[in-house]
Amino acid sequence: MPYQREEMITASEVARYVYCQRAWWYDHELIRTGKFRRHAHRRGRLGKGQVTYQGQYAERLNRQLVSYDYGVTGRPDYVIDRDSLPVPVLRKIGHAPDAPYDSHVAQILVHCLLIETTVRVPPPFGIVRYNERTFEVDYDPPAFDALMHLLEEIRSEKKHTTTPHRSHEIRRRCFGCSHQGTCDESLVQG
Ligand code: SF4
Repeated sequence: MPYQREEMITASEVARYVYCQRAWWYDHELIRTGKFRRHAHRRGRLGKGQVTYQGQYAERLNRQLVSYDYGVTGRPDYVIDRDSLPVPVLRKIGHAPDAPYDSHVAQILVHCLLIETTVRVPPPFGIVRYNERTFEVDYDPPAFDALMHLLEEIRSEKKHTTTPHRSHEIRRRCFGCSHQGTCDESLVQG
């Protein structure tokens, strides 16, 4: 059964959940109580020098994408044409890690899913681009299954009334977290 608009999970929300479930929950609560507004996609979002996708699916892809079947929405930073197939690109400012962060992998997979459901053509992969390095993330059956499992987990977690525990042991994540000041499970306290 198709999802309703209010049930949509955004690609950036999926990334946030993977980053830290507790941070995702805090975001979720702020949105629910109206203290934090989820960003609508802005006009002029593309940076200088970037171009909108010019391929055969341009009319359907240069916009906010929504899949009612999977209950997800989002907009790739941009889409490129690779052997006549649309491939989403996630642009991240900052030095490249040895492998793309798992939150970015999850986010680009949502964009792949959105493209597939919009134009009925699955991208072979998505691209995560850091300052000096670019990664291709396969969009294959195992990746699809993992994404489905993740979306199911997020929907299940949304039904709970208790705040989830920190889902990682990475101090760097807490350093960069906007909830660090109030979170009693932060790894940078004390
Ligand atoms: S401070 Fe750390 S544990 Fe707490 S919400 Fe942020 S990332 Fe998660």
